[in-house]
Order: sequence, then structure tokens, then C-alpha cells
Amino acid sequence: MSLIVQKFGGSSVRNAERIRHVASIIEKTYKAGNDVIVVLSAQGDTTDDLIAKAQEINPRASRREMDMLISTGEQISISLCAMELERRDLRCVSLAGWQAGVQTSSVYSDARIKRIDSERIQSELDQHRIVLVAGFQGLDRAGNITTLGRGGSDTSAVALAATFHAELCQIFTDVDGVYTTDPRIVPNARKISEITYDEMLELASQGAQVLHNRSVELAKKFHVNLEVVSSLEDKPGTTVKEVTKVEKTNIAGVAKDTSIARIALVGLQHNPGVAFQVFDLLSKSNINVDVILQSIGREDTKDITFTVHKKDVEQSVELLEEHKQALKFDHIATDERIGKVSIVGMGLMSNCGVAAKMFEALYDAGINIQMINTSEIRVSVLLDESEVDRAVRAIHGKFFDET
Ligand code: ADP
Ligand code: ASP
Ligand code: MG
Repeated sequence: MSLIVQKFGGSSVRNAERIRHVASIIEKTYKAGNDVIVVLSAQGDTTDDLIAKAQEINPRASRREMDMLISTGEQISISLCAMELERRDLRCVSLAGWQAGVQTSSVYSDARIKRIDSERIQSELDQHRIVLVAGFQGLDRAGNITTLGRGGSDTSAVALAATFHAELCQIFTDVDGVYTTDPRIVPNARKISEITYDEMLELASQGAQVLHNRSVELAKKFHVNLEVVSSLEDKPGTTVKEVTKVEKTNIAGVAKDTSIARIALVGLQHNPGVAFQVFDLLSKSNINVDVILQSIGREDTKDITFTVHKKDVEQSVELLEEHKQALKFDHIATDERIGKVSIVGMGLMSNCGVAAKMFEALYDAGINIQMINTSEIRVSVLLDESEVDRAVRAIHGKFFDET
């Protein structure tokens, strides 16, 4: 008997009809003789609606109370789905993250899974129950409910698959696989049959929300067989694996991210240790910094520009202003109307013409690049937010329509 983890996203459990359909997929897997762990997200826009409710009460609510609130959506999904399985006379049990033994760090709204205590789930599986686990949530050492960051149910699923050595972890969603870019922006994007963990990790980290980036990180670390499939149609999806057979001359895909903002510290002294002080301060407050640019100004000053998630702008500026005396900068400038577009592919390592081709696509479309950032298998550009979708179409067209 093998164990399969099946995760269903928000749109897949949006209403009673969709929950019935999800239950039929679970039933089929269970009746084929498998042990099944199901991970569910909150229904439809529930998480956004909960955030809106909090905004009405207190826009500066603590992250602890936010997590307490937004973790409730997943609990609704698992209980409703369990009720549908009960109606079908299937043995099942729903478990909140803490009941399922999901232990996390204490970083509210961005917690990491530390370990999963397997006892409870194992005993339920031993009694031949289908186990439904609330995704996106866990419990920290002090007993507080935490959440894993938006889209984090994918990570719950992969962590469970790794803990229980599942044969397969299936991520069911509203697209039938990973595409060369978001099919909502480029309708003729191509479905990718196989993609490496490394490429998928870069795409997910650069905004391809089809998989939560940490789910891919965990899948790579624990060699989890990961598959992205449609919850609507029964057809092959995308397999995420260590090595693929697909040729590596083209890029794997294009991703966009409009959740970022730019912060510039203007007029810093050009002394050693300034960058260290700035980024140490931010990292101690768990603020993730992405693209960094340092430029030399006049009269021995320098500017440091970097990007953070939009949700972290206010806190970053407050922190930096508090330390203005020590850091000795002139002023801070922020811009929330920026976006990032990235190309990702193993082929970038061996083909220096790839980046030039991306810049050419942007030049042809008359789009200005504000900052550039690269990794071994990725090139990212920062642009005006209003140009992002057009840039994705131009770049995707250059790499996939002209080949
Ligand atoms: P779920 O609710 O199932 O977790 P998400 O909305 O988080 O689903 O992710 C699925 C969505 O990701 C798709 O509807 C699609 O618009 C978007 N997406 C972005 N980039 C890609 C990509 N490269 N391939 C497929 N889908 C993508
Ligand atoms: N419900 C959470 C969110 O909307 C987690 C998830 O969907 O994976 O971000
Ligand atoms: Mg998702």
C-alpha cells in the first residue's frame, strides 16, 4: 500500500459542488488502495476576505492576531470536505495544523515548518482513515498559531509528503500544470511536462504563484515526487524533479512579481560596514531583502537601493528612521509602483546571449529597465508596475514564439 498526499487549492474547494468533485478524486485514490493525506486551502477568496475584516477593525493589528484569524479559513475547508467524505461512507478525520503535529518557527505570517510530529496522523492512517489536514498553519514552540505565508498550503503538503515518505505529492489547482508563464497573462503560454526543482524554485520565488517557493525548496531537499495537476480535468500535469530530459537551449519560463516595493537610502557615508549595518537591522526584524543596488553619489556619499515585500515597507522605513543617527543617511525614498520580471532556465548558465535577448525584447517594446539582478539560472529586471504585463508578453513572445 502506498501513501499519496493530495493538496487542493482555494478555487478547487470554492463551493459545495467543487468540494464534492474534490471528494470524488480523494475517494478514487483511497479506493485504489492508497493511504491518503489531503491538504486543503481556504475556500475561494476566504483568506483575502478575512484580511479585509481585520483591516476594518484595526489596520495595524498584530501579526499574531492576524495569524489567529487567517488560519481559520483552512479549518472550514477540511471540515466541510470531511463531511462530504462521511456522506460517502468513507472513513476520515480532519485535523487542524496543531492537531496534525505541524511545528513551526515563531515568525507570524511567514513561519517555517520545523518538524511534523507524525504520531497522530500515523495512528489515523493505521485505522484506515483518510486524513484531512488544514494547510498553511502550524503551532510554534510557545503554543501560538502561525501561518506559513500566502500560498503556504503547498508547503504544508510537501512537508507532510516528506515526513511520511509519500510516493507522490499532488498539487491540484485551477491550471493543468506549470506553464512557461502565467496563462492568465499570456493565453498561448505552453505547458511544461517536466521541470527541475531548481528552475521551479526560481520561478516560484520570482512570483509564479502556482507553487509556494518553500514547497519546492522542501521537495528538492527531501526528494519528494511533486506533481502539479488540474482539479477540474483528469489529464497529465507537470512533474517537478531533479533532472529533466527536456532540451536546455531555451529558458524554462517567465515570472512576474508585483508584490515588491523599492526603498532607497540616499546620501549614506561611503565607509566600510554601512551595508552590513542596514541589512543586519532589517534581517533581525525578519524583513527579507531582494534586489540590492549600491551606487556612488557626489562628495563621497553613496545610495543603497533595495526591494522588500510591500507589506514590509512601513516597518522597514520606521526601523531605518529610528537608526538615522547611527546610519547617517540623508533621506529615504520609497516606490511601491514597481514590479519585477524574471526569466529562468538551466540554459542561462551556458548561453550568454539569453540575457541580451531578454533586454532586446524590452527595448523593442520601449520598456525602461530600472534595475537588473541575476543568479546562475535567472535574470530579473525591475520595471514600472504598469509595464509588467506588457514586459512579460514581450519577453515570452521573444523566447517562445520566435523559436
Ligand atoms: P491554488 O488556489 O490552487 O493554490 P494559485 O492561485 O495559488 O492556486 O495558483 C494557480 C495560479 O497560478 C494559476 O491560476 C495561474 O494564474 C498562476 N500562475 C502564475 N504563474 C504560473 C505558471 N508559470 N504556470 C501556471 N500557473 C501560473
Ligand atoms: N489560504 C492561504 C492563502 O490564500 C494559503 C493557500 O492558499 O495556500 O494564501
Ligand atoms: Mg496557491
